[in-house]
Amino acid sequence: MSARIIDGKAVAAQLRQQIKQQVEQRLADGRPTPGLAVVLVGSDPASQVYVSHKRKDCAEVGIRSFAHDLPSETSEAELLGLIDQLNADPAVDGILVQLPLPAHIDTNAVIERILPEKDVDGFHPYNLGRLAQRRPVLRPCTPRGVMILLEKSGIELAGLDAVVIGASNIVGKPMALELLMAGCTVTVCHSRTRELEAKVRAADLVVVGVGRAEMVKGDWLKPGAVVIDVGINRLDNGKLAGDVEFASASKVAGWLTPVPGGVGPMTRATLLQNTLDTSER
Ligand code: NAP
Repeated sequence: MSARIIDGKAVAAQLRQQIKQQVEQRLADGRPTPGLAVVLVGSDPASQVYVSHKRKDCAEVGIRSFAHDLPSETSEAELLGLIDQLNADPAVDGILVQLPLPAHIDTNAVIERILPEKDVDGFHPYNLGRLAQRRPVLRPCTPRGVMILLEKSGIELAGLDAVVIGASNIVGKPMALELLMAGCTVTVCHSRTRELEAKVRAADLVVVGVGRAEMVKGDWLKPGAVVIDVGINRLDNGKLAGDVEFASASKVAGWLTPVPGGVGPMTRATLLQNTLDTSER
């Protein structure tokens, strides 16, 4: 078997195009430009790259982005003060604080300070709680992006046995809630899970978000399974690899996302969608 490769880059480009048209329509109707505040604390190189992508994506679809680049010694009180200002600013529909934050700042306190209706990352307990209640408002970008990819690929989810490997608040847990909402029977695996391979082998759908390069091998998979690789790992040779061994998995899976070019572009496009959604509300 040779897996069908799910082209996240192409689906994300289509989504950006749709968002651009909706933003243009808003302006034509005399409504304000959607605005996204992107807050970066410190100079972590990976975070700088992610933030610059987010700002570029906003420009491409006509969303206004407000840059707040703060030095690494910014105190928690100063950051919370900025969030209060952004919460009160009517030009700002969405607030994104790039993670990770420096160790002296309490990340949960920052996430909880953002008004839930401006929480375009979907990390606020209110938004995660609404997702758990199957009444989502703002949904975390990566899992929402995965759901869009599955839908655009025409994959019927109801009744599938799904395994999510990784249980973080930003990937694994909301991913499991999304799949549950879509009618899958979901098993969530983590670092202390026993017999991981056997669980993966029984799954019709596997989503992997761990951060260990090529951990899941082709011979772990059920033939024909749908395999979504969220992992992004930098190899010693400088190349990017996912958490799934692509070469062996592509011989067994029915559907497979590549890294790069799979889930990553969808996360970026979904942030724009969430920003547009907040401004529409
Ligand atoms: P994280 O917070 O470090 O969480 C990793 C999860 O994997 C944890 O739940 C951990 O278990 C579990 N885990 C660790 N070792 C394991 C093992 N040997 N077997 C099974 N589970 C194991 O990471 P994250 O933020 O969720 O990110 C995960 C990966 O996704 C990273 O590669 C990251 O770069 C990538 N990512 C990609 C995108 C994208 O847009 N494509 C977006 C976000 C993240 P415990 O809970 O027991 O510790």
